[in-house]
Amino acid sequence: MTKFIFITGGVLSGLGKGMVTCSIGKMLQVRGLKVSVVKCDPYLNVDAGTMNPYIHGEVFVLDDGYEADMDLGAYERFLGIELTRLNNITSGQVYQHVIKKEREGGYLGQCVQIIPHITDEIKHKLRQVVKYTGAEILLVECGGTVGDIEGLPFLEAFRQMRLEEHRGETLLVHVTLVPVLKAVGEPKTKPTQHSVKELRAIGLQPDIIVARCEWGRLPEEQKKKIALYSNVEERAVFTSVNVDPIYELPLALEREGMGDLIIEYLQLKGSKADWSQWEKVVNRFHDAKEAVNIAICGKYAELADCYVSVNEALKHAGAASGCKVNISWIETETFEKSGVTETIRNFDGVLVPGGFGQRGAEGKIRTIEYCRTHDVPFLGICYGFQLSIVEIARNLLGLKGAHSTECDPDTPHAVVDLLPEQRRVGELGGTMRLGSRPVVVKKNTLAYKLYGSELIRERHRHRWEVNPDYWDRLEDAGAVFSGWSAEGGMKEILELPDNYFFLATQFHPEFKSRPWSPSPPYYGLVKSCFDKKRGMLKPI
Ligand code: GLN
Repeated sequence: MTKFIFITGGVLSGLGKGMVTCSIGKMLQVRGLKVSVVKCDPYLNVDAGTMNPYIHGEVFVLDDGYEADMDLGAYERFLGIELTRLNNITSGQVYQHVIKKEREGGYLGQCVQIIPHITDEIKHKLRQVVKYTGAEILLVECGGTVGDIEGLPFLEAFRQMRLEEHRGETLLVHVTLVPVLKAVGEPKTKPTQHSVKELRAIGLQPDIIVARCEWGRLPEEQKKKIALYSNVEERAVFTSVNVDPIYELPLALEREGMGDLIIEYLQLKGSKADWSQWEKVVNRFHDAKEAVNIAICGKYAELADCYVSVNEALKHAGAASGCKVNISWIETETFEKSGVTETIRNFDGVLVPGGFGQRGAEGKIRTIEYCRTHDVPFLGICYGFQLSIVEIARNLLGLKGAHSTECDPDTPHAVVDLLPEQRRVGELGGTMRLGSRPVVVKKNTLAYKLYGSELIRERHRHRWEVNPDYWDRLEDAGAVFSGWSAEGGMKEILELPDNYFFLATQFHPEFKSRPWSPSPPYYGLVKSCFDKKRGMLKPI
């Protein structure tokens, strides 16, 4: 019998509801229980693939090629489970399905309504995940904030499920904010009281409250107050404080007794919590003393959420290399007006991440040129890989005006171009080359040294490819293609062996980086920055 834990958020977004969800999952896992997680996103997009990361945050790609909300990335990183498209339910998917069924005559004679048709479909999708994953406990996080119009059908579906499942089979965790106003100097519980009131008005009574407190632990007095007004036990009010690394959060909540309380409330039969493995992972982050400074040079540079997986992958690589990683985001558009030198000189290494479109592209190309010619450790990801090809074509091969046709459709040297199957694409949603694909790695290369395998699988999200007409010339200029697609031979990894560390990948290795097992290219970059900084010779 599967149990369900619903996680909702109140007061405002960005409370770290996803982190609380991950922490609950971890608390259950360390007790030997099998969990899976679903993110419900009330927006009408069918998936996150067509959304601007600047507004919505990173698009996280799953093995099966689904373009997911970035919370799924956090779930995978914390819980070490591979999720599928079933684990992200959007209003867009639900409505699309119901409307299609209506057109097909699937509801003949009925008036199709939010209740019960939309809510039935949500419940059906949730139960499908249980069937597919065999989870003993399904965590269901609802995006947005209680009170949002779009979120109502999901919350209503949760309400129905709480009634339909047997008593004691479901739990509702509500995450809210407890601010401290400087002038008053004491924590304020009123926003929490209001958001719980809102929740109860739609028939949902929380069992557990997690108060996000940026300023420290919630004092007993405020805990009591929240418990009283929210109709929960005092011991069911927890604090989510600031932690670094974020992987500390499950430990912090466990110390407050949350794990045992969930087990008790849901009458679960877990084993004794064994945190030893997780503590080892977390301690590696603390043990690192020295730091390397890495610049991420991209377009959405101001907003850390756009590159969550890249940031996390760098931190994982730091923990494994024995150093902290200080990350700075640099908007490459600025390089088109001023020079690169002054800025990049201060960094131990540079990463040019994935991206789209013309804006900032010339600045990225200049960044790559600087790294190549000044031997700054460099990692290029996806667009960063394609623009490295452009840089080499222009500056090593002397192909004037060489470019990707994404930026310049009339370039005289289309060194990065669309393959015929991408030219035929009509709809833009879900039609890139997506998901986990096999890549052959050439022996005796940097890539092989990092991966230790001749066949790897990494996740992709791109339309453009290195143009086969230029492969030979690029290689003659000194580029080494150390990886290619096992499916069609397209180039996937580029390296420059004369540099201390210069690697670029067509795929996005950050999506598979985990705190206990860093992504090999990221590990290579961070380790090289650290070694070079300490004056160590290049290993190969
Ligand atoms: N814009 C490039 C392409 O579509 C790169 C995409 C990316 O960096 N994710 O191929």
